[in-house]
Amino acid sequence: DEAEWSEFDGVEGAEDAADGGPQPVLAVVGRPNVGKSTLVNRLLGRREAVVQDQPGVTRDRVSYDALWNGRRFTVVDTGGWEPSAKGLQAAVAQQAEMAMSTADAVLLVVDAQVGATATEEAVARVLRRSKRPVLLAANKVDDERTHADAAALWSLGLGEPRPISGLHGRGSGDLLDAILDVFPDVPHEQFGVTGGPRRVALVGKPNVGKSSLLNRLTGEQRSVVHDVAGTTVDPVDSLVELDGEVWRFVDTAGLRKRVRTASGTEYYASLRTKAAIEAAEVAVVLIDASEPLTEQDLRVISMVIEAGRALVLLCNKWDLVDDDRRRRLDNELDREMVRARWAERVNVSAETGRSVAKLAPVLRTALESWDTRVPTGRLNSWLSDLVAASPPPVRGGKQPKILFATQAHPRPPTLVLFTTGFLEAGYRRFVERKFREEFGFTGSPVRISVRVRE
Ligand code: GDP
Ligand code: GDP
Repeated sequence: DEAEWSEFDGVEGAEDAADGGPQPVLAVVGRPNVGKSTLVNRLLGRREAVVQDQPGVTRDRVSYDALWNGRRFTVVDTGGWEPSAKGLQAAVAQQAEMAMSTADAVLLVVDAQVGATATEEAVARVLRRSKRPVLLAANKVDDERTHADAAALWSLGLGEPRPISGLHGRGSGDLLDAILDVFPDVPHEQFGVTGGPRRVALVGKPNVGKSSLLNRLTGEQRSVVHDVAGTTVDPVDSLVELDGEVWRFVDTAGLRKRVRTASGTEYYASLRTKAAIEAAEVAVVLIDASEPLTEQDLRVISMVIEAGRALVLLCNKWDLVDDDRRRRLDNELDREMVRARWAERVNVSAETGRSVAKLAPVLRTALESWDTRVPTGRLNSWLSDLVAASPPPVRGGKQPKILFATQAHPRPPTLVLFTTGFLEAGYRRFVERKFREEFGFTGSPVRISVRVRE
């Protein structure tokens, strides 16, 4: 199997993959320690072949690109959502709810050596209601002798348990085939491919005014649009008409009902934020302009960038901002927003309604950038001029050459550079800056991967 694992099988492979269009999404759920991360790494294949632009990003990222039998898909690893032992069952069930509402297929991973615990039974109850296909992986079946452990998992009522060993790779090819089989031909409307409303998340730390803004926006629309049934329990999204267009504000159940979850821990807040960002195409990060910028604000912004979603910065409570505070805020943003200078900013007051009409045009710009794909020919003629004028710095006496570039996909725009040697972070940043100067991308993160060909 190993030979078939690859993100980019050389230049031609990448070109093929680049034309894949929208990708279906697989969400991986399960208790801690059942082997989710090990399995996800295996699903991704030779990830080390692609050097991530930002160190440390991979660890926190929750979604990855995978390629199997020529089909691209996105794997959402819910591993990072694990709470402390307390409230585990509820958290994993909630994780399953999120997976069901955001993915095209869900993979429940169970440790077959341990068997089905009360947690798995609770999750299975949630997943049995799923409108999306659910696959059951019986992990840690390292050899024939333990096959019986897998069969015991029929009791979960989720169909055939598929014996695998994430660690050794056993059964993973069959599992991948099964995953591709259950994916719908057209991924669900998550990425706007079916022409449904574009998906927007309102995120930010508590009390920045997310509920107030949603109320303001729903109050201003001319025709009130009905809510959408997201899960069987609760409508999770709101459809809102702004500037002549209907938008889907995702995961607004909590905001509409003004429920402050009883368990309102920071963990749940951050879980909710992550899920909303994952479900959206563009995230509006609200900050309280009347207060100093905080670490928490920056964390939310990082979450959006790392999830690869388009980003709009909304400075709320502008009615409380005087000249002095405005100058301070400008300085704070200037200093702290280095990673997101490309994001557009709007200053509004959800309370008075001031400037909220500016939101729709800014959302459109960000999504347009996020959707952009630069044709390979144009990209390479730009790149060869750039490299001729400013070649990559020499390392260890060798001059790395950039052979070819392709924009592997939009959403977010991802540039893959095929080189003969490692490119320093500084040079990659330079390429990104020039890439943005040439092609725009206001409001969208851009990723640059380097593929070294030996
Ligand atoms: P996660 O918390 O669900 O992401 O689990 P990890 O991927 O971190 O794995 C938890 C532990 O189980 C690690 O020690 C892994 O090495 C081990 N593990 C994962 N998959 C397998 C497997 O297929 N067989 C065996 N024997 N151990 C495994
Ligand atoms: P959330 O926790 O992010 O949903 O924040 P809320 O919408 O509940 O707002 C928190 C508090 O800020 C409430 O007391 C709001 O009335 C207040 N607030 C929200 N937006 C504005 C605004 O634009 N100006 C002022 N002055 N207060 C606001």
